[in-house]
Amino acid sequence: MGMAEEPERLIAEDGTRLDGRKPDELRPLRIQAGVLKRADGSAYLELGSNKIIAAVYGPRELHPRHKQKPDRAVIRFRYNMAPFSVDERKRPGPDRRSIEISKLSKEALEPALFTEYYPRTAIDIFVEVLQADAGTRCAGITAASVALADAGIEMKDLVAAVAAGKVDGHIVLDPMYYEDGYGEADVPLAMMPKYDAITLLQMDGNMTEDEFKEAVRLAKKGCKIIYREQRRALKRKYGGE
Ligand code: ADP
Repeated sequence: MGMAEEPERLIAEDGTRLDGRKPDELRPLRIQAGVLKRADGSAYLELGSNKIIAAVYGPRELHPRHKQKPDRAVIRFRYNMAPFSVDERKRPGPDRRSIEISKLSKEALEPALFTEYYPRTAIDIFVEVLQADAGTRCAGITAASVALADAGIEMKDLVAAVAAGKVDGHIVLDPMYYEDGYGEADVPLAMMPKYDAITLLQMDGNMTEDEFKEAVRLAKKGCKIIYREQRRALKRKYGGE
């Protein structure tokens, strides 16, 4: 997977990371709401080198009708990586990874939506990863949440998401590609900050219980910063509180 040779160490003596971040620091984050004309809601997000577009269509009448739910909206989510989003061209189209990420992203967002307000409809969420540098499932959820709000869909709260990881024995926030690739573990987390409610929690790799707790603490802290940026992006478009 076109990754440069492993550097001797990923974290310096004083805790500084390869890109100069402290262990509890996010990559630079930029969010813009309402970037697509034809979608009902949309958002563009950059987190370090990740570049992601989210588009929302709906609520709109669901066809075929037998797929409608009489008491709520059906949420559909498609995560996709552009062929040019990674070093070596990614084969276009869905693979096992993107199907799995689509499913868990939908499950991370659904608790935040008042689906019962929109019976017999579908809400379609599309996440397109234009450039990937680890943490894209979380960045996609963050962007999709802003796109849902931009579409005017009633929500209990925004969902913010970010991963924490274990790298060189250190627990760090928001691992980039090198750290993810050579790291020991990765813990993606999504939450509704207003309710302190986690809607996605995964762990890939190995950690002790204490390390896992620290990873969750760091990721939650990261989500709160991301949440502020999500709200700022919406305020920039819609003004006021
Ligand atoms: P996430 O992006 O949520 O961290 P993974 O842990 O599966 O998901 O992937 C980590 C990173 O590995 C991705 O963000 C991307 O930079 C890279 N990657 C994933 N799939 C591929 C692929 N098919 N080809 C090349 N790089 C990939």
